[in-house]
Amino acid sequence: MDSKDFRHWAHRASEWAADYYESLPDHPVRAQVAPGEIGALIDAEPPESPQEMETIFADFERIVPQGMTHWQHPRFFAYFPSNAAPAAVVAEQLAGAMAAQCMLWQTSPAATELEVKMVEWLRQAVDLPESFKGVFQDTASSATLCAVLTMRERALGWQGNRNGLSGKPVVRVYASTRTHSSIDKAVWIAGIGQDNLVKIPTDEKLAMDVAVLRAAIRRDREDGLLPAGIVVCVGGTSTGATDDVAAVCQVAREEGLYSHVDAAWAGSAMICPEFRHLWAGVEHADSIVLNPHKWLGASMECSAHFVREPEMLVRTLSIQPEYLKTHVKGDQDGMVNFSEWSVQLGRRFRALKVWFLMRAYGLEGLRSRIRNHVAWARKLAERLAGESDFEIVTPPMLSLFSFRYVPKGPKGPEGLDLDLDALNLRLLNAINDDGRIYLTQTEHDGKLVIRFVAGQFETRAQDFDVAFDAICETARALIE
Ligand SMILES: *Cc1c(COP(=O)(O)O)cnc(C)c1O
Repeated sequence: MDSKDFRHWAHRASEWAADYYESLPDHPVRAQVAPGEIGALIDAEPPESPQEMETIFADFERIVPQGMTHWQHPRFFAYFPSNAAPAAVVAEQLAGAMAAQCMLWQTSPAATELEVKMVEWLRQAVDLPESFKGVFQDTASSATLCAVLTMRERALGWQGNRNGLSGKPVVRVYASTRTHSSIDKAVWIAGIGQDNLVKIPTDEKLAMDVAVLRAAIRRDREDGLLPAGIVVCVGGTSTGATDDVAAVCQVAREEGLYSHVDAAWAGSAMICPEFRHLWAGVEHADSIVLNPHKWLGASMECSAHFVREPEMLVRTLSIQPEYLKTHVKGDQDGMVNFSEWSVQLGRRFRALKVWFLMRAYGLEGLRSRIRNHVAWARKLAERLAGESDFEIVTPPMLSLFSFRYVPKGPKGPEGLDLDLDALNLRLLNAINDDGRIYLTQTEHDGKLVIRFVAGQFETRAQDFDVAFDAICETARALIE
């Protein structure tokens, strides 16, 4: 592809993207294809000779979009959002064009120095103390893995990486029963093992029971085990479970344990002062993750990982063979090699999209979106609660709530003889087949419930009216 062709196709791609965004509200949110349907349309073998871009692009348009679930659709209310604000998408095009590998300061000084600044902008935006420094990891899963590795190394006197874990005391990590599966995976990968992730039960507010936590740590010490750290949950994935950060971090400090706060989704809301009570005490944590690629609009992948003492993270993850050493003239103070802060060596230029995003919308623009999402979700929960055949199971935590369809026949629910779990799963599938909105399910107290979470970057008030209608109409059609 020569420069002239590149210019042409890059323009075509941008035109396509603009048309795509404009047409999104007219499409079903979740892909409406069956497993294998798209794969069957792709040639079984790679071509031996070059093909025309015209053909390639036409195949893209013919095959791919119909097989996509549209995460940028204004009525995407499933999982958690994965927003790509248009300004961030433009920045990604530029980063993609330069295609730098930003592992070390000298492999792209601008990428490193912009990353330092953007992490600092975000720190100010969520009002963490100045002492916190940070890095953009690819995902929260990676940030949590880095934190768990740091817990392990710190507890083992920095000997685990060198000697392995055999013959060492058994490392223990604590988290509530409602934390994300990425914590389990992190302890697997760190060699700590699932059985040494101690799951602490939660109270009626879905927060970790701190008395049980203290007792578990004490018992482990008596048994000769090695408590290393605590993962604190702010805005759990299932129903928004949130620990008392101040109380848990207090235990961590008293017990000399490392604390990591997983606020992957809810952390973005902390740009609004009125929501910061949800993580009160966070300044006492050692490590915090929040995902600008979820609610803020930075587009996958961009996870802000803040640490109070970067030295611990770097001591855990830094490795410097000669071929990665930097030999530059001048002052090396303040020169950061971010690959020493993460598991991966090679890394993309993630800071550019954050710079574009935060400037194009301003903190006020981002705050007003989050505030609207929270207010509109609450209003929808109230409307559903007002319908006699729906119940709200978990109340709104920011913009996330869960509900169930509980129709009552003339003789009450018993008269209908319904399996409510099966009915709600049928309802969920019917809603997603209808396509006006997209929702997902979870389990709460042994019951299947439907989750609703607002947060798509371009969602509008009227989309919540569509959601209300789609939910009610689809539900009632089921039992007619
Ligand atoms: C989304 C989420 C994760 C996982 O995030 P990734 O960036 O996809 O790894 C972890 N914890 C919580 C609370 C989340 O909401």
